[in-house]
Amino acid sequence: MFYNEEFETLPREALQAMQIKRLQQVLQRVYHTVGHYKKSLDAAGVKPDDIKSLTDLRKLPFMTRSDLQNNYPFGLFAVPMSSVVRLHASAGTSGRSTVFGYTKRDVDTWSELMARSLVAAGLTKNDIVHNAFGYGLFTTGLGMHFGAEKIGASVIPMSGGNSKRQIMILQDFGPTAICCTPSYALHLAEQGGVLGVDMKALKLRVGIFGAEPCSQQVCDEIEKIYGITALNFYGLSEVMGPGIGMECLEGRNGMHIFEDHFLVETIDPQTGEVLPEGAEGELVFTTLTKEAFPLVRYRSGDISRLITDPCRCGRSHIKIERIVKRSDDMLIIRGVNVFPAQVEAVLTDIEGLEPHYQIIVDKSGALDSLELQVEVSEKTFSESGSVKELQNIERRIIKDMKDYLGVSARVKLVEPNTLQHTPGQAAKVIDKRRI
Ligand code: AMP
Ligand code: ZN
Repeated sequence: MFYNEEFETLPREALQAMQIKRLQQVLQRVYHTVGHYKKSLDAAGVKPDDIKSLTDLRKLPFMTRSDLQNNYPFGLFAVPMSSVVRLHASAGTSGRSTVFGYTKRDVDTWSELMARSLVAAGLTKNDIVHNAFGYGLFTTGLGMHFGAEKIGASVIPMSGGNSKRQIMILQDFGPTAICCTPSYALHLAEQGGVLGVDMKALKLRVGIFGAEPCSQQVCDEIEKIYGITALNFYGLSEVMGPGIGMECLEGRNGMHIFEDHFLVETIDPQTGEVLPEGAEGELVFTTLTKEAFPLVRYRSGDISRLITDPCRCGRSHIKIERIVKRSDDMLIIRGVNVFPAQVEAVLTDIEGLEPHYQIIVDKSGALDSLELQVEVSEKTFSESGSVKELQNIERRIIKDMKDYLGVSARVKLVEPNTLQHTPGQAAKVIDKRRI
């Protein structure tokens, strides 16, 4: 099933002709409207006119998250704010967060790509979609919502949290599809177990999971518990949000990238060298149609492979393999992206702490848990007359972590010089989920 059969099945030659034309248009536009691109292309000695074929793409410089942060909040927008109808942002303190703008047409394109994704999962207007992704500054909740409405499905804008209510609605409203992180699906099943609910007896037929890695084993487990088909979607807010890639019901191996809107490359994360198709590397994206926030050669940090074999669904678009690794130190905690540097920025703003801390990520049941061990300064430690003072610092850390980064952390303050210090590194991350 297709939402836009013509474009989703476009023969590769026609698709590539369209891609190069769109790429040239994007380059002209960003070069002349966004200071950053003029500077970076000039520095690399390339002009938009030099890009005559898709292989010329590799002449262009990469964009990284720091380019986004250095242009915080709106420095990379290619249209005036009067044309921007929506803003989204990643977690982070001022200047460390990244901000994304959308024109009306961008929102329409995004909705269409989410509609394509949901139709690729077998959904129609007859489906009821339980959307348990958070609504707000993060892109996944609203992205899913607009896509589901676009295909005419009935959306339940459930958002995250309130597991008991989620289960009640799953029972009473009879949704046929659920969208959430895979770990949240397992968490709901655990809660269902406590309440004596048989998840298989629900009307759910398909689950659309993403925003964090979903191993084959976890997908299999969800399928077994719920008696549904578990499919993976892919996206990142910098490039658009969800709706960049989707696993199709017929193929069930890898996620199609909607290549009429995005170019995807894999590179060696160390050397930046473009890798041959099929080799494992970091995914790099170029947007071909975005108006407000176009991106050229953005290094996603996600590690995967390109799958070029024809898919039995009939889509001509390339696929990427399931993503379970990153090229950087980004952690995904309950679907929220957290960088140790962002945690450090939160801690640095709080008086009385040493910049030495340890991040311990683990599982508490199906859900991720985060513990922060932070050294207090010698001064605070010797002078703090009361436990109350230390409790205040602890409370402030918990609150700022929630406010700025959107994650709940358990905090343990420790005496100075008790944490292991690695020279040149303020934090040590222990991710027990991988051990
Ligand atoms: P956000 O910008 O908050 O939507 O987060 C995007 C990031 O979430 C991506 O760069 C990936 O690291 C991760 N992500 C999204 N979808 C998936 C997926 N299906 N599998 C693994 N990681 C994913
Ligand atoms: Zn397919």
